[in-house]
Amino acid sequence: AYVIAQPCVDIKDKSCVDECPVDCIYEGQRKMYINPDECVDCGACEPVCPVEAIFFEDDVPSEWTDFRRADTEFFAEL
Ligand code: SF4
Repeated sequence: AYVIAQPCVDIKDKSCVDECPVDCIYEGQRKMYINPDECVDCGACEPVCPVEAIFFEDDVPSEWTDFRRADTEFFAEL
């Protein structure tokens, strides 16, 4: 799945939401979240993010790998 990392925090531009064909990007308190169970890995959201916060899970920069878990936990709590 794709993951939304640190640059989204307190930005939440939401350009990605309009691009996602399966509507799996949700709004949290401080950032947007991609539901890993619904994401079809199409990659459409990645290039439209103005702050380059979106990465394929295996390509998340090392300083932001915690965000892979953040998205999974966000949906586990719903
Ligand atoms: Fe949605 Fe595609 Fe981005 Fe996954 S990769 S969140 S399916 S736009």
